[in-house]
Amino acid sequence: MALAAVVFDWGGTLTDPLNFEELTDLWRLAARHIAPDREDELCARLEQIEGALWAGVAKDQKAFSLSDILKKASDELGVDVAEALLEEAGTHHLDVWTPHIVHDPEAAPTLAALKGEGLKIGLLSNTHWPRAFHERFLERDGLAEFIDVRCYTSEMERTKPHPAAYRTVLRELDVAPAAAAFVGDRLYDDIFGAKALGLRTVHRRDRNVPGFDVQPDAVIDRLPELIPLVDKWMRNDT
Ligand SMILES: [Mg+2]
Repeated sequence: MALAAVVFDWGGTLTDPLNFEELTDLWRLAARHIAPDREDELCARLEQIEGALWAGVAKDQKAFSLSDILKKASDELGVDVAEALLEEAGTHHLDVWTPHIVHDPEAAPTLAALKGEGLKIGLLSNTHWPRAFHERFLERDGLAEFIDVRCYTSEMERTKPHPAAYRTVLRELDVAPAAAAFVGDRLYDDIFGAKALGLRTVHRRDRNVPGFDVQPDAVIDRLPELIPLVDKWMRNDT
C-alpha cells in the first residue's frame, strides 16, 4: 500500500536527546508550591512515584498522567491538592523544563516538506505530561502547524509499544497501518511496536537509548533523510 501518513515519536526524535539528569530537581519546584514546609519529603516522594510508574510502564504499558502522580502523592502524604493547584504546580514545572526542551532545528523544515508532499503527519508520544505542555513547545518552535494529529499517552490507557497506542493515532489520521510509517529513536517502544502492527518503521539512531532486537525498514541519522525515503514509499505500491 502506498504511504499516506508519517507518525513521529517526540522525545529524542523531533527533539535533541532529553537530559533527564537536568530534570530530576524539577519536582522540587512542584513540591515547594504544594507544601513549602514539607518540600524535601514531597519532592522525594514525587520522584519515587514517577520512577515506580515508569517502571510499571515497562511491564504492562499502562499509561499515566501528571495528575496521576500528584494524586497518588496526595493520597500517600495526606496533602489535599485541588485541581487548580495541580495545574499551577505543572505550570511551574514546565517553566523550568522549557529551556531544556530543544527541538531539532531540522524538524520543522522536514515536517513542512513531508506535509507539502501531501502526507498526513501524526505524533505519538509516551508521556505523563498534559497536552497543553507539549503543544506549547510545538507551537513555540513552529512545529504544531505541520502536525495534523497529536496523541499523548497521558490521555490514553496504554503506552507504546502496546498496539492500542498506535491504533489511536492511526484512527485519528484515518489511515491503515500499511499506509503509515513510524519514525522513532527507541527500538522497543517505537520500532518493535509499530512494526508489530504493520507500519513501516524508521529508526533515528545513535540517541543513547536502550537497544532491542528488531529490524527497522530504514535507519536515519538526520530528519531530512526522511524526504527521499518517503518519496520512494509514496511511489511504491508494495
Ligand atoms: Mg523517543
